Amino acid sequence: MAGFTVAIVGRPNVGKSTLFNRLLEQRKAIVDDVSGVTRDRQYGVADWNGKSFNVIDTGGFVHGSDDVFEREIRKQVKIAMDEANVLLFMCDAATGITDLDDNMAELLRRSSKPVFLVVNKVDNNNRMLEANEFYSLGFEKVFFMSSMSGSGSGELLDAVAELIPEEENTEGAEEGEIPKIAIIGQPNVGKSSLLNALIGEERNIVSDIPGTTRDTIHTHYKMFQKDFILIDTAGLRRKTKVQEDLEFYSVIRAIKAMDEADVCLLLLDATKGITAQDLNIFSLAARKGKAIVVLVNKWDLIEDKKTNTTRDYEKQLKERLAPFSNVPVIFTSVTEKQRIFKAIEEGLRVYENRKRKVQTSKLNEVMLKAIESFHPPVVRGIPIKIKYVTQLPTYTPAFAFFCNLPDDVKQPYRNYLENQIRTNFDFEGVPIKLFFRKK
Ligand code: GDP
Ligand code: GDP
Repeated sequence: MAGFTVAIVGRPNVGKSTLFNRLLEQRKAIVDDVSGVTRDRQYGVADWNGKSFNVIDTGGFVHGSDDVFEREIRKQVKIAMDEANVLLFMCDAATGITDLDDNMAELLRRSSKPVFLVVNKVDNNNRMLEANEFYSLGFEKVFFMSSMSGSGSGELLDAVAELIPEEENTEGAEEGEIPKIAIIGQPNVGKSSLLNALIGEERNIVSDIPGTTRDTIHTHYKMFQKDFILIDTAGLRRKTKVQEDLEFYSVIRAIKAMDEADVCLLLLDATKGITAQDLNIFSLAARKGKAIVVLVNKWDLIEDKKTNTTRDYEKQLKERLAPFSNVPVIFTSVTEKQRIFKAIEEGLRVYENRKRKVQTSKLNEVMLKAIESFHPPVVRGIPIKIKYVTQLPTYTPAFAFFCNLPDDVKQPYRNYLENQIRTNFDFEGVPIKLFFRKK
């Protein structure tokens, strides 16, 4: 199973989003603006001791009667129980146990998933004494912390990380495996249509295999003499009539599909351009080390196309994708079956790019020359000297640069080195990591 997910639940104002932000550090979250009684729901990826996991803040409710709270709480808990591997049930030591806490506790005690009771706002020793009352809620695992200062968060994260099996942390394909391609994007961009267009080619389907979670369907295809697996979440619709819940589930599922994939085909709606939410999904996929192809779909709806239209569109799009703009962009029309096979071909190409291993001798020949022609800046009167480069044996490409002052190589120079790698070797569509180590 790929992709471990932690959900934070609790009544309003206990500190859920404060903890969420702390777990993500300053990384960008996907925020789902929901109106009415609920506040934003958030998704993101956190790291702890080399293990990475998804975090969902199922949101809160800003106002409403007791009935509304009751209903919203049930919804929040249901989403968390459906989607997460572990639930963090957050309470507030400053206010003590409330009726809402009791109600939530009752729902959560029935959860088949592990529930950690997180007693927040334990900012000092007096609070610690008062906080003991929370044992009465009847949860086996209780953590006392202050989301604000971060104290106690280490113990909580250790306990979460302990639940993540080693293989949860894989970054994708094993050697000799069949490429796994996920179709992702916001609602209505054309994901199901694309899938149907491909499935329409029945002869290409080898077999259906269950996804690693019940939320995804894996279909084994053979096209262009190549095998691949398409991961689909689009076809699945949970039984909910509430539009905002539907979108919430669809984002969570997109994240799960990403976790299971080597390659993401990210669909955009050409008529809308790239939105902030699209960019969030894109950077999440990049952070997860997935190879990416951007499909600008519904291209048929763009009128008055001129010679430069695609070129200009692509240029503007890539400016928004920067700094990771070395990504294939394909203009598709699923309804008119334009370039949908090209999209798959590109997906398979970036899959190969992601597996690329550059020979150390070749890498050094090229990169040391590039370093020679543009030296890293001098720090505190000492020149930075990079002596040797090697590609690490990781699934997603990573490079180690050995040098005298590894901590002093700053972003602009890192960007230069990454560009040089990309100019000399084909890593299009693939996020790459650079590490600097003391020689
Ligand atoms: P949410 O509604 O559960 O997401 O709660 P928020 O994260 O928005 O926090 C509600 C309020 O509690 C904010 O004013 C936070 O600054 C405050 N808060 C969060 N964590 C702590 C903490 O550990 N100690 C104290 N004293 N206040 C906190
Ligand atoms: P999903 O929510 O991402 O799975 O999107 P759907 O596949 O359900 O498509 C949403 C709507 O967009 C449907 O009405 C499709 O017929 C339409 N659509 C999908 N692809 C295209 C396309 O390339 N061109 C046009 N004009 N419409 C499209």
